[in-house]
Amino acid sequence: MRLLVLGGTSEARALADALTDEPGIEVVSSLAGRVRQPTLPVGQVRIGGFGGVDGLADWLRGNGIDAVVDATHPFAARITANAADATERVGVPMLVLRRPAWVAEPGDRWHPVPDLAAAACTAPTLGKRVLLTIGRQGVGAFAEAPGWYLIRAIDPPEGALPAAAELLLARGPFTVEDETALMRDRRIDVVVTKNSGGPLTSAKLVAARELGLPVVMVTRTPIPSGVPVVAAVPDASAWVRTRAAQQ
Ligand code: NAP
Repeated sequence: MRLLVLGGTSEARALADALTDEPGIEVVSSLAGRVRQPTLPVGQVRIGGFGGVDGLADWLRGNGIDAVVDATHPFAARITANAADATERVGVPMLVLRRPAWVAEPGDRWHPVPDLAAAACTAPTLGKRVLLTIGRQGVGAFAEAPGWYLIRAIDPPEGALPAAAELLLARGPFTVEDETALMRDRRIDVVVTKNSGGPLTSAKLVAARELGLPVVMVTRTPIPSGVPVVAAVPDASAWVRTRAAQQ
């Protein structure tokens, strides 16, 4: 069985790892190529876009792919929608592996917003000094927003940035102590993040709670209907093994 894992997440790497020595299963991991020095999964890796739904459908056919697991980031909605369309067209089963969203806890001061444009309107109403932890894509939504921004990302954002900003290049995971110290040191008033979920980047939420800071939380777009979804890597591995056994 040839399995395509759409990746760019720790879960995708863990899935490739879990299946690497599995007899009868060959895993090809795919990365978009956004990060300059990506953390690579074990095994075969291809990098770069497929060229939309048509390109992905052709690629699935041309590479003899028998099943697809979309383990991309919860905010990588385009590739998930493309994969749902392409797998349906080619007649290949698809599973989404998606970590659960973060849920507000007592003491949290979250302001849910549907997208980054709404976040850029909301954040300046909550404070002057904003910690922007939304990755490097989408920072342009804040280009015209008033206030001061600490932009933390793995690689530098491209395009227009807010007029008053500091760029902090850093790759998580971060500890609660790190996050608390950063927010105190830069005198942060408000945190902006996407509801990525997962433990690797959740320390900022604990730090914000403990410091009493508001968090502008961009909510997720829904997964295409009809596509099965699991939240944990062992469930995705089990799905793949079942499909492989049916080959
Ligand atoms: P996106 O908006 O859903 O995808 C845009 C385009 O990038 C897709 O149409 C596709 O190009 C290509 N692409 C995306 N993921 C791909 C993959 N795994 N393999 C090959 N091509 C891929 O995605 P995005 O938000 O730009 O994210 C890009 C990648 O970064 C994703 O793989 C995701 O897992 C990872 N990531 C994203 C975030 C985030 O906040 N968005 C955070 C951490 C990691 P074609 O149409 O040409 O096929």
